[in-house]
Amino acid sequence: MSDILAVNDLTVSYAGDESVSGLSFSLKEGEILCIVGESGSGKSTILKAVAGLLSSDGEIRGGQILFGNADLTSISDSDLRKLLGSEIGMVFQNAGASFHPMRTIRDQLYEIQRTAGKMDRSVFEKKAEGLLESFGLANPKRILDSYPFELSGGMQQRVGIAAAMLLSPRLLLADEPTSAVDVMIQRRVVEELLLARKDYGAAILMVTHQMGVVRRMANQVLVLKDGRAVEYGPVDQVLRTPKADYTKKLLAAEPRLRRA
Ligand code: ADP
Ligand code: MG
Repeated sequence: MSDILAVNDLTVSYAGDESVSGLSFSLKEGEILCIVGESGSGKSTILKAVAGLLSSDGEIRGGQILFGNADLTSISDSDLRKLLGSEIGMVFQNAGASFHPMRTIRDQLYEIQRTAGKMDRSVFEKKAEGLLESFGLANPKRILDSYPFELSGGMQQRVGIAAAMLLSPRLLLADEPTSAVDVMIQRRVVEELLLARKDYGAAILMVTHQMGVVRRMANQVLVLKDGRAVEYGPVDQVLRTPKADYTKKLLAAEPRLRRA
């Protein structure tokens, strides 16, 4: 099976300072790759580079980001915009911040799907309501009619995740999607992402600091330190027999949760 995403020798810098150096990894259909590493190691930078969303001082200095046959480091802005939202979905740590404050959730979700031209209105409404409900939002019609400020941060986050999944993207980029929600919601989000993989073979590139989430979801783990991969391989191998001292330290620092 061919790769959905192949990152080859990627180097990214901000105002000349390298944040990600010579990084390579790949993802096939239905695979989940979790990136772990301490704060500032370059995790978000990788996802932003893939999505073409680096801030203006950020620059891809070398390497390729292949999505199928397209190299995302060199495709036109309009071609990239077409992929984002339809073929590539994104969930950020603070998904609520990406909503426009003065428009209803319904309008904003509908716009995502209309831009991609994937479904008609009634199919869209059903799918959106179903996704919101699966994330534990009991009254999805009311959520759709809300403005962002009428929803709590946790609700906005769940709506943001639903928005990213609305178009069944082949690749989902998720930057700490569950760090701001409570444990019950975390579980639902994880289950929903796993369903996306099972139902239509979504590949997921996810940043998380929660080793429990890594264990539950990942096929592969990439351990990042100072913008470089110190370890990259199948989840069992990396978590059970870590080679790098840094990985051992990360695992040792993991809080021991009491079992419920
Ligand atoms: P992580 O997500 O692992 O916490 P980031 O990718 O956000 O790390 O940041 C990696 C490094 O790049 C950090 O040293 C950070 O300070 C730097 N960095 C991130 N964004 C910018 C920016 N817009 N301008 C300058 N430096 C940045
Ligand atoms: Mg980050």
